[in-house]
Amino acid sequence: MPAALASPSPGEVIAQRTITAYTLTPDQLRKSEGLHRTSVVLSLTSLIFGIVVLMALIALRFGPMLQRVVERISGKRFVQALVFVPVLLLTLSILELPLDIYGHHISRAYGLSVQGWGSWLSDWAKGEALTLIFATFALWGLYAAIRRAPRRWWLYSWLVSVPVMAAIVFIAPVIVEPIFNRFDPLANTNPGLTVQLQSLAHSAGLEIPESRIFLMRASDKVTTYNAYVTGFGATKRIVVWDNTVRNMTAPQTLFIFGHEMGHYVLHHIYWGMAVTALLLFAGFRLTQRLAEAAIQRFGERWRIRSVGEWSSLPLLLLLAGLLSFLAEPLGSGFSRRIEHQADVYGLAITRPVTKDASQVAAQAFQLLGEKSYSYPNPSPFLVFWRYSHPPISQRIRFVLSSAGLAIPEVHIQERP
Ligand SMILES: [Zn+2]
Repeated sequence: MPAALASPSPGEVIAQRTITAYTLTPDQLRKSEGLHRTSVVLSLTSLIFGIVVLMALIALRFGPMLQRVVERISGKRFVQALVFVPVLLLTLSILELPLDIYGHHISRAYGLSVQGWGSWLSDWAKGEALTLIFATFALWGLYAAIRRAPRRWWLYSWLVSVPVMAAIVFIAPVIVEPIFNRFDPLANTNPGLTVQLQSLAHSAGLEIPESRIFLMRASDKVTTYNAYVTGFGATKRIVVWDNTVRNMTAPQTLFIFGHEMGHYVLHHIYWGMAVTALLLFAGFRLTQRLAEAAIQRFGERWRIRSVGEWSSLPLLLLLAGLLSFLAEPLGSGFSRRIEHQADVYGLAITRPVTKDASQVAAQAFQLLGEKSYSYPNPSPFLVFWRYSHPPISQRIRFVLSSAGLAIPEVHIQERP
């Protein structure tokens, strides 16, 4: 009916408002507090539970027991890996499944997800299968390195891990992501918007071919908005979720796209890989040191003879897990920094083509925040440790405060 067709989109509704700060209605605020509290408790519980499970497996000598079994099955190392790795990892995943299920239940309860349980479980199984295949090969290689170079394995493994990581980032958009979601060229469904996005890119001296702008069908699974840059080299692309395009106005979408273009232009994928490589270097080194020290001290009690035995895997996983938890603030801090840079870029690039670009950007953020019940007042410690993006309230404050700020490109263009 015409009336239904004419009903304004959330983006159009918010465009009627003047945003001065990130604000929520009392009902939204209550939900956002509930969701925030639950998410914090859930992630803390997952972390502690993961540690406790691995410690229990080590104390119960699960690794040595499983090692005896696989050594009876075959003398071939690869066949041993083929059994040992999936059995251990699947055991861990199944023990952690109830927490994952609860997480999805929460997403559904808050209306962030509309994905049915069958579809969710199928995604879980696919993710699990991919992880097991990759981990079996990776750990088979890792243990071969440990046995051949007991002192230097951490360095050789790191040297191999860097190109492997790059290969994963390269193939992810074409091989991994399509396993979970459907991607189509944006031009197929939104030719007008594609032209607008391309001309925005063009105005920044950047040519982004149609073939690199994709629409992801996210609406089957979630109600939230998103866009991102993925891949590198021949697979580098910008992906916009269909929810974003459908519910935001063209100027709001242009700002989101401008932000993503910032990631694209400023080579954030490469920077991300470089930072990951550095963290992996430290991670491999520390894991080797700590594993050796732990086995020297407790190896007899745990029945782990050396790091090169399959039985050491629960210990290696525990150490790697603890180290990556401790490294989280480094990764989060880096991520928040590049996200802010992308905000600056998005604002600078939309300013010449959008009337009141700061307000449009603030509206886009307000909408993003409302849609996902983003919590307005996270503790600075939590932000420091976990947040991959600056909190929404901060991003809104930035775009509004920078209305008259000299962002170089814009300053030149606005000069009368
Ligand atoms: Zn971003």
